[in-house]
Amino acid sequence: MTQTEYKLHIDQVIERIERARIKVSEHHIVKIVAVSKYVDADAVKALYRIGQRAFGENRVQDLKAKAEALEDLPLEWHFVGTLQKNKINALIDLDPFLMQSLHSLELAEALDKRLEAKGKTMECLLQINSAEEETKSGVMPEAALEVYRGIQERFPRIDLRGVMSIGAHTDDEVAVRKSFETTRSVFDAIGDADICSMGMSGDFELAIECGSTMVRLGSIMFPQMRR
Ligand SMILES: *Cc1c(COP(=O)(O)O)cnc(C)c1O
Repeated sequence: MTQTEYKLHIDQVIERIERARIKVSEHHIVKIVAVSKYVDADAVKALYRIGQRAFGENRVQDLKAKAEALEDLPLEWHFVGTLQKNKINALIDLDPFLMQSLHSLELAEALDKRLEAKGKTMECLLQINSAEEETKSGVMPEAALEVYRGIQERFPRIDLRGVMSIGAHTDDEVAVRKSFETTRSVFDAIGDADICSMGMSGDFELAIECGSTMVRLGSIMFPQMRR
């Protein structure tokens, strides 16, 4: 794919987001985080050149490698993966723009402790397992509000900005919609949260219609590398 064809492709993705967004409201804003976990630093650079600034990774070591390779570019890096306890310090040292996958009180406690030791804070989203799937990490939706408040009260180094969720893993649109609506209802119940991160390449329009304010797009943003 040439750079011109690539730009056309990304324009089409943005148009699809626009159509879904307008259905919600002209004032509804949706941010794109390009999940670059399938591609190398050169592919990130190619997308940066056509205007993308926010990128996401699901492994600390990949985030580190790409952030260092591209440190001259004004990129913002999001962490979207399951964080192992032994990678907490490495993640903190990378100063991610947003840690989207805080999945338990236990992880919050460990993260807060290391942040305190380093004299730092981190903006995070609470990951919610809205589809209640065993294979996914995240807080169950019934417990989410209480856990969110608990983190806010007990862990001052963690700056919670909202919620993140992965849609139900099924072709059944009704079930996927339900999982997004569940996440959005937690977001609304929190009241002062500003980020509702949901929607991936296969379901972002539905997620936006259900109130997503941030989509995490991987394969569709890197079509040359589509698996
Ligand atoms: C990989 C990944 C994405 C992007 O997935 P695509 O289906 O390729 O768009 C989004 N969110 C998380 C948490 C991921 O791990």
